[in-house]
Amino acid sequence: MTTDVKTKPKLALYWAASCGGCEIAVLDIKEKILDVDAAFDIVFWPVAVDFKVKDVEAMADGEIDVCLFNGAIRNSDNEYMAGLLRRKAKILVAFGSCAYEGCIPALSNTTTRAATLDWAYRDSPSTDNPDDTRPQEETEVPEGTLHLPAFWETVRTLGQVVDVDYSVPGCPPQAHQIWGVLEAVINILYHGAPLPPKGSILGAGDKTCCDECPRTREEKKISGFVRPHQIIPDPDKCLLDQGILCMGPATRSGCGGLCVSVGVPCRGCYGPPPNSRDQGTKMVAALASVIDSEDPEEIDRILDGIVDPIGTFYRFSMGTATLAGARRGVSAHVSADERVTP
Ligand code: SF4
Ligand code: SF4
Repeated sequence: MTTDVKTKPKLALYWAASCGGCEIAVLDIKEKILDVDAAFDIVFWPVAVDFKVKDVEAMADGEIDVCLFNGAIRNSDNEYMAGLLRRKAKILVAFGSCAYEGCIPALSNTTTRAATLDWAYRDSPSTDNPDDTRPQEETEVPEGTLHLPAFWETVRTLGQVVDVDYSVPGCPPQAHQIWGVLEAVINILYHGAPLPPKGSILGAGDKTCCDECPRTREEKKISGFVRPHQIIPDPDKCLLDQGILCMGPATRSGCGGLCVSVGVPCRGCYGPPPNSRDQGTKMVAALASVIDSEDPEEIDRILDGIVDPIGTFYRFSMGTATLAGARRGVSAHVSADERVTP
């Protein structure tokens, strides 16, 4: 693929259901953002540039060369924008953990839409809503009708809603990896470098976090789990060997061992390693080989030391978890029929 470089390739960045961290991470490439500006015509980036959705709607299909789409698909607006940007972009990238595998928003797939709204608008300790006011899709005001997006029953990944060309993992993707992806795109568009095979994971490694961790792992047997604040871990030894639940064995490399190198266990934000479809079951398998007991009751006691197993094993990957598909009784794709009017 090559582009007519008399006009700069068009780049779009968009956020759906996300915290905004992926947008900030793009700015973390620091002065290289000037290289991005020199190489691309940024045509849509709501967090930084005041283009409107109607500007995108007015573009020809395929007019945008590359779109980095971060955020999961939580509501009808997210889904509309995913479809719109899919049509307008030649290359659509699921950028960051939310778009790639659901991340924190998809943890609400462990419960229902109704329970999620009850918590947010009634039950949370920080909620002050005595009239139990709930968001409505349409509200009449003197000036006309106000619209809010419909809130779906299920959080989906970008790839479960539209066709995705590439994915960049990370919560957020690390700056050096983001620049690596943008540089690769520049080489493709300006210098005719070959496109990676469709479906490739970009901006990450092909091993596990343990493989780039500076700590020494001896795969010691453990007889109990401790939380990071309960011990002062040896700074050179594997955290898992010391009983701290570290997701390194079940996480793709690429971040450079960012957390583990400063004493914080890996939480798994780069998603499952190659050839592993489900990050949680990969981690359970890793734990099975290090638990120091063959007595079922003792194993139960050790496992009870894992606080919030779902949130630990699937913190970033619930959107693509086999478990989530089982809850819905369907594949990870959910049709718009699941829409429930408030
Ligand atoms: S389990 Fe965690 S601390 Fe241990 S080697 Fe792997 S990434 Fe490093
Ligand atoms: S160590 Fe784990 S949680 Fe931390 S940035 Fe790397 S992949 Fe993400």
